[in-house]
Amino acid sequence: MAFELMPLPYNSDALAPAISAETLSFHHGKHHKAYIDKANAAIEGTDMADDSLETVIAKARGTNQGLFNNAAQSWNHGFYWCSLAAESGHPSDELGAMIDEAFGSLDDLKAKLADRGAGHFASGWVWLAEKDGKLSIEETHDGDTLADSGFNPLLTIDVWEHAYYLDHQNARPSYLKAVIDTKLNWGFASDNLARGSAWTYPA
Ligand code: MN
Repeated sequence: MAFELMPLPYNSDALAPAISAETLSFHHGKHHKAYIDKANAAIEGTDMADDSLETVIAKARGTNQGLFNNAAQSWNHGFYWCSLAAESGHPSDELGAMIDEAFGSLDDLKAKLADRGAGHFASGWVWLAEKDGKLSIEETHDGDTLADSGFNPLLTIDVWEHAYYLDHQNARPSYLKAVIDTKLNWGFASDNLARGSAWTYPA
């Protein structure tokens, strides 16, 4: 079963002006699609052809870097689309209490996410994640993922330049501020926490 390019869970103009329809069109229709197409081409005719995306990621980690990069980027982008929303909403009571315990307040968490994202060297991902009942901010480089990490990822932000260059040019902090202030999907994060296991890419 080939993996599919999951549709965006909102209209392409839903995240503007933080992320424009033009950026989403390229990021989803070109970048994400290319990762999916390359992952599908790499598993076609192999014993991984019927595996889930999460299984392919775990099998390819450390053994097939090319496949790993494309499979992990396929997963990361699906998770990223869900991590964003036209309206941020609010963390659940459970998530809100854990945020207060780990970071002091939601505003403190937002500031730390912005700092970590701005400070991340070159391409990668910044995550809010849960493990053993505690929240933390994690970073992965290039195409690396938390999908098979033992963390329960709650939210992610893409800090590759292709995520923001058309809208913010080289000003990654401007992109981060706009996304973190207005477009993070706290309902999705709350659902991920309540489920207690990592999100899975739609089959
Ligand atoms: Mn990307």
